Amino acid sequence: MIELATYEHKFAHLHCDRPGGRPRPHKAVMLLAVSLLAEADELTENRIEYNSRLLDVFRALFDVARQDTDKNTPYNPFFYLKSEGFWHICPTLEGADALPHRTTIGGPGELRRLVSFATLDTELFLLLHDSVARKSLQATLIQHYCNHVADQMWNTMHYEIQIETQKQKLLKEEAAAYETSTERVRSTAFRRMIREIYDVRCAACGVRFFFDDVDLIDAAHLIPFSQSKDDRPQNGIALCKNHHWLMDHAIIAPGPGRGLNYQQPIWHVRKGLDNRLEEHRPVLELKNKTVILPTQPRYAPTPESLDWRMARLSAS
Ligand SMILES: [Zn+2]
Repeated sequence: MIELATYEHKFAHLHCDRPGGRPRPHKAVMLLAVSLLAEADELTENRIEYNSRLLDVFRALFDVARQDTDKNTPYNPFFYLKSEGFWHICPTLEGADALPHRTTIGGPGELRRLVSFATLDTELFLLLHDSVARKSLQATLIQHYCNHVADQMWNTMHYEIQIETQKQKLLKEEAAAYETSTERVRSTAFRRMIREIYDVRCAACGVRFFFDDVDLIDAAHLIPFSQSKDDRPQNGIALCKNHHWLMDHAIIAPGPGRGLNYQQPIWHVRKGLDNRLEEHRPVLELKNKTVILPTQPRYAPTPESLDWRMARLSAS
């Protein structure tokens, strides 16, 4: 394949900073992350978005490849890969005028304001979906940019594939969690899936946050896994750290809305909290507020899982 040799050559000669003579691994790790999404069947369109899915995989691989002064800044390769000729960034409405003239990017916020998504050369996109070609391109990247940890990188890639595949199975409702081989794969797949279907948004307060290397939004089981062995999306909910803690301690619970309406669940609050106390008010403000549901209704919590949380609230 002529194209494969062309892209192998390009991948071996990426334009990178070279502190002390060694190339920074950022661009290579971004390409490895994208190849991994293709392998896990998560890149069905030639459209790479700067979202929590990409960043989760990037972070896992970057943690292996990084050396002394390397910083986890995925926005850099996402932007600067455009200089390689095979990675094309498409502007948002706001970025339409500015982006073509930009030679630098200020940070992840600016990237997301100006860039809508990236696309690959069609030939490269197709090569990433061919298992032999993909393996060869991955090997080129590992050999040239993280050869010092080559074995560890292949192991991590293998592990990441298992996580992403498990996540896809759960989303397609093809698998129950206990089918997976290890506890780490199982729990990471569940966490990533829930954050994704809730679009990294707290189902209580609505706060939405993701950043290159900081997590604020957790994935929680409604019926604990230890009891239910149930990792299906309908047994999970995305919550910020505060609301996760409050639900775990049965101060708040998602439950049916008025008239036992399970389609539009609302937040319930433990009895005994007092509106006249300043320190109780932020929690009481949540009472009767609608639970923010996943964008796809079929992933909404089941009545059974809501009942479990409600029973725990009234027992406390
Ligand atoms: Zn919250």
